[in-house]
Amino acid sequence: MSTFANHSIHCIMIIDGKQISAALKASLAEQVAAFPARYGRVPHLTVVRVGEDPASVVYVRNKAKACDAVGIRNTTLVLPEDTPEEELLSLIRRLNGDDTVDGILVQLPLPRPLSEARVIETIAREKDVDGFHPLNVAGLWQKTPHMEPCTPKGIMKLLRATGVDPKGKRAVVIGRSNIVGLPVAKMLLDANATVTLCHTRTVDLASVTRQAEILVVAAGAAKMVTGDMVSEGVVIIDVGMDRDPQTGRLCGDVDFESCASKAAAITPVPGGVGPMTIACLMENTVECFLHRVNGSITV
Ligand code: NAD
Repeated sequence: MSTFANHSIHCIMIIDGKQISAALKASLAEQVAAFPARYGRVPHLTVVRVGEDPASVVYVRNKAKACDAVGIRNTTLVLPEDTPEEELLSLIRRLNGDDTVDGILVQLPLPRPLSEARVIETIAREKDVDGFHPLNVAGLWQKTPHMEPCTPKGIMKLLRATGVDPKGKRAVVIGRSNIVGLPVAKMLLDANATVTLCHTRTVDLASVTRQAEILVVAAGAAKMVTGDMVSEGVVIIDVGMDRDPQTGRLCGDVDFESCASKAAAITPVPGGVGPMTIACLMENTVECFLHRVNGSITV
């Protein structure tokens, strides 16, 4: 984390996702280095990519790089865009039954007409490193052992690393997707925040976001949260990975300049939530491995 003062006396903390994720990966690497002596092997993650979606190509490559850094064995399987669903499902069933595979990740989104729901529910729950399987989702909502989805898990770690305890705080989440908004709202609730979940039909969004002491934005709309929508001292987590319509460069859902002048702490884009998501995927892979070799869910 770094701190800087802008033109006035306002002092903010930039939540350094790169640094916090590097620390998590380093600690996982240390753990993994001891596995061959203890268990006779290292964890193995298999990533399946269907088609050539450019963003998916980059994400899958970054996941393989992170595996290499942590010492996790990784295999990437690439299938053609027009793969029949039954072929993809039978590949997943084969990976489910492969004792050398600890984690299975099918990169989303899938090309049409493949059903993401059918693919996700076919992955063995105990190898579901993304935490998307219906039983893992149920575990989150029922507070039973489960694999946590990577992005919300990373967000909670960023808050913790920043010294922010959500207990008793007013937390506002923008976005209600199954992979970010909804699960992070539940995690904030479990951390005893008072949570408001906003979406496209929320009336007078700014009046809600101005109440936030913690603001998590996962809308997928470039720079939609501006300085006039937040209060002094807010902690902002920007999940967005958007293109700035003016410059074409990667940006978040939050207008960094105008919000940083009011926030106590804020994540940058890039370098905030993104690297934490991948580090949490590494942690989930290690957890799946430990579950399989020890025979119990450790999460
Ligand atoms: P999504 O499109 O599935 O959901 C977006 C949600 O935001 C919806 O619930 C919608 O109601 C709400 N929303 C959209 N525009 C809004 C507006 N103007 N006002 C209020 N609510 C609005 O998106 P998602 O998959 O949850 O992803 C959200 C963003 O986070 C995207 O930019 C995505 O690229 C990014 N993302 C980043 C990571 C990461 O690791 N950094 C991971 C997942 C998603």
